Amino acid sequence: MSAITQAKRVVVKVGTSTLTYENGKMNLRRIERLCRVLSDLQNSGKEIILVTSGAIGVGVGKLGLPSRPQETAKRQAIAAVGQCELMFMYDKFFGEYNLTVAQVLLTGDVIANEHNRKNTENTFKELLDMGIIPVVNENDTVAVDELEGARIGDNDTLSAIVARLVKADLLVILTDIDGLYDKNPSVDPDAKRIPYVPRVTDEIRALAGGTGSNRGTGGMATKVQAAAYANEAGITCCIMSGAVPEKLYTLFEGAQIGTVFGSAKG
Ligand code: ADP
Repeated sequence: MSAITQAKRVVVKVGTSTLTYENGKMNLRRIERLCRVLSDLQNSGKEIILVTSGAIGVGVGKLGLPSRPQETAKRQAIAAVGQCELMFMYDKFFGEYNLTVAQVLLTGDVIANEHNRKNTENTFKELLDMGIIPVVNENDTVAVDELEGARIGDNDTLSAIVARLVKADLLVILTDIDGLYDKNPSVDPDAKRIPYVPRVTDEIRALAGGTGSNRGTGGMATKVQAAAYANEAGITCCIMSGAVPEKLYTLFEGAQIGTVFGSAKG
């Protein structure tokens, strides 16, 4: 567990299901608590990088729409509205603890193109050197479904890409369930949580199955994939519930929590 308790540079990914209520509106209480915990961890000497979803959900709430539209261009426009609101919230909540945030919007070509990768690494380095918390999201204006290959596709994958870019010690994926289960727990009440996955195998990938909540996008499959991608670079990953943000303290105290995906470094 030392890879977790001693982790200094930590990428935390938070999903739509954690950030919003079922009606799509922002769960302000939870976001506020999350920002407080992350600020405290930053003050304790860690370097936090936040990867956040939720732009479309927040945009839907802001514009008072009855549901998420299906049309890609509409979703992109709504994400552009929601992204402002999301950053406004993070700026406000982290600002209350005297921390500065920076908006970093990325697309898949950040790793496809060496020049872009270097620029992105440089930006992250400068931000972290200044003690600023980068708040990362996919650039939904540029990355659309039709552009297969150029699109990262979901923020789980993006979080692992960011973890590798910043050479993080740990990737924490916060979601609406307390880890990977041996079956889909929303279908099977007998499902049991798997505390530790030393290596992501095809069997583990098969457990992750299809997509998850209707507000989230990737489900468990993209999270397991992200864990595997982080592990490949020696970065430990923990998938855990974001419902009680203070549980992050418990994680860093070395308690067994969520599902930890090990790495060679571990
Ligand atoms: P987020 O919005 O945080 O990215 P998702 O809703 O996309 O979250 O994904 C989490 C969901 O994946 C869980 O709530 C659960 O319904 C579903 N899921 C499918 N298979 C599994 C599994 N084996 N273990 C845990 N959760 C699973």
